[in-house]
Amino acid sequence: MTLTVTDVRVDDRVVTMRVDDGVIAEVGSGVEVANGDEVIDGEGFAAFPGLVNGHTHAAMTLFRGYGDDLALMPWLETRIWPAEAKLTADDCYWGTRLACIEMLKSGTTTFADMYWHPEAVARAAAESGVRALLCAPLVEKGPAGRSALQDDALSSLEALDGFSPLVTPMLGPHAVYTVSPSALEWIGQLARERDVGVHIHLSETRREVDDCVAAHGVRPGELADRCGLLGPRTILAHGCWLDPPEMARIGETGATITTNPVSNMKLATGRHFPYLDAVAEGVAIGLGTDGAASNNSLDLFQDMKLFALAQKFANDDPSVLPAAETLAIATGQRSPALGGHALEVGAPADFMLVRYGTPELTPGDLEANLVYAASGAVVDTVVIDGRVRMRGRHVEGEDEVLAEVRARAARLTAGE
Ligand SMILES: [Zn+2]
Repeated sequence: MTLTVTDVRVDDRVVTMRVDDGVIAEVGSGVEVANGDEVIDGEGFAAFPGLVNGHTHAAMTLFRGYGDDLALMPWLETRIWPAEAKLTADDCYWGTRLACIEMLKSGTTTFADMYWHPEAVARAAAESGVRALLCAPLVEKGPAGRSALQDDALSSLEALDGFSPLVTPMLGPHAVYTVSPSALEWIGQLARERDVGVHIHLSETRREVDDCVAAHGVRPGELADRCGLLGPRTILAHGCWLDPPEMARIGETGATITTNPVSNMKLATGRHFPYLDAVAEGVAIGLGTDGAASNNSLDLFQDMKLFALAQKFANDDPSVLPAAETLAIATGQRSPALGGHALEVGAPADFMLVRYGTPELTPGDLEANLVYAASGAVVDTVVIDGRVRMRGRHVEGEDEVLAEVRARAARLTAGE
């Protein structure tokens, strides 16, 4: 399958880009359309690598707007956990379908997810054609907690292994406060044996740090390190309360911290991600939305802007986190675990076409406008693995998915 985008802007040049078998095969001004190519006329469009959502719970679109403006624990205890107790695999499938539509419509080509019924999430991602790093949340509850956690870990790997070329299985210990150190060690060992990455919430709130020190005598980053969870394929979500020695160790291991600035501000986690400490220690960084219940959007354009602005504000320095660096982080190019690429020969053909003549992108520098002025609505076309997944902002099946999710959300949140 060959796709050619003619006369498209890439890095301030007008080029033709040819994609063969899911990979960018040629980029340049002299590239010709061949017989049988699917052709997109790229005039008036600029191509950018697809955005990578480095931490989300996609199916939580079902709970968008449910329990807004509550504190974290009452929100979880009175709204999210009771509603999640009713979740079926089909609910997760439809919630993820909606998430994929929203992500495609805002230029996201890969998402790193942690959610229940990962096989249903995988089915939705594969059918939507969106690349996904998937794991089940692993928690230890009650006396049978340890064996249930091990069963969940093994069965999720079995369900996701070989599911689709678009799906990469991972192991998802929920957090250091929901999984014991010995189970975390077991998960670290299993990840090495099965050659898969690890995705965990880490150091989101001050209370998590205080409780971890009280229970285990070490901070969450040290505990994750001791349990063998840190490596180049590890995703650490949040990291708001990491201290410089934890940052240094995370930097050495190559693990990625995904920052979720909108979710952190909405839930008032009390501290912005210490971005400059992470940079000083060479830490790999990604950007995520977190779930739609705590954001409430999956449009990473909003998170890009808030990320850059929050860091400038928190550090009292407008030169911190310039637009081009924000875009590099949001496209996964600062993280081995998230695996983003520039639009160059040999890279996976995961990209978006932006119509650059729109009011919010006129005039000024296009990259800066994408970060500071745009919303996801500027994205016209999305290609993933060399296949067109959205064209002219049309995504297959949108009406059906919206109707299903409305009905399912009403059932899940009824009676509260
Ligand atoms: Zn999360």
